[in-house]
Amino acid sequence: MASEEFKENSSAGPEFAQAEKLSDPEGIDFFPERRGDKITRSWFRILLFGEGQDNIEKVRCERNVHNCVAESPLIKFLLDALKTTGCEIDLNRHVSCEPCSKVVTGGYDSEMNQIVVCQNSATSKAAVHGALAHEMVHMFDFCRAKVDFKNVDHLLCSEIRAANLIHCSFLSAMIMGTASLIRIKKQHQECVKRKALASVMAVRDLTETEAQEAMDRVFTKCYNDLEPLGRRVRRNSKDIDKIYRERYLYGYGFAP
Ligand SMILES: [Zn+2]
Repeated sequence: MASEEFKENSSAGPEFAQAEKLSDPEGIDFFPERRGDKITRSWFRILLFGEGQDNIEKVRCERNVHNCVAESPLIKFLLDALKTTGCEIDLNRHVSCEPCSKVVTGGYDSEMNQIVVCQNSATSKAAVHGALAHEMVHMFDFCRAKVDFKNVDHLLCSEIRAANLIHCSFLSAMIMGTASLIRIKKQHQECVKRKALASVMAVRDLTETEAQEAMDRVFTKCYNDLEPLGRRVRRNSKDIDKIYRERYLYGYGFAP
């Protein structure tokens, strides 16, 4: 079935830091078009070098987004969870394919309540799926708790949850069978910490010590908060399909 492809590929893509805080003055400008600095291309270059590339990338990205929404049980589940929590996603309004700095694949703009999928770096369906799922966890956190992404603890907490629920769950499952359960648990926690720290430090001017202190403050609480999935998704398991089928048991999927 169609969702198999997502399960296989979601952890296979290259590692990208995620940029979340789009208007942080201390942050790097990952999303030039957000500030109205449209990347200008002269007609000369377009005619000579065929730089209609932006449009081709945008169309491909939007097609991938629509395919994920139509085919992936995980994305469908997250959409339902957002709807039930009162934050229904209108794809046209809340998801935007844009060119970004090459080091990121996606971002969440809490001011606009918009997910940015980076059309120039998230070029495969799996990469778009990973970026969408990750940013939807941030959107869910913002919707549920009005998270203040300017607060390092809040930002880190949401990154821990996104890494825990999406990225590292697939990764840890890949070594299943070759490692003891205790080792898997330890590696999973280390994966979450590493990924969350990288995400936060990519957009914040923090020292290693400051980031580590924030991690010590929030890790246990945020790592154990598995909403809205209710469990860590395992690759090659039926978890994703099961979660989607059982969404009513978790209180999601009832919204009119
Ligand atoms: Zn993130």
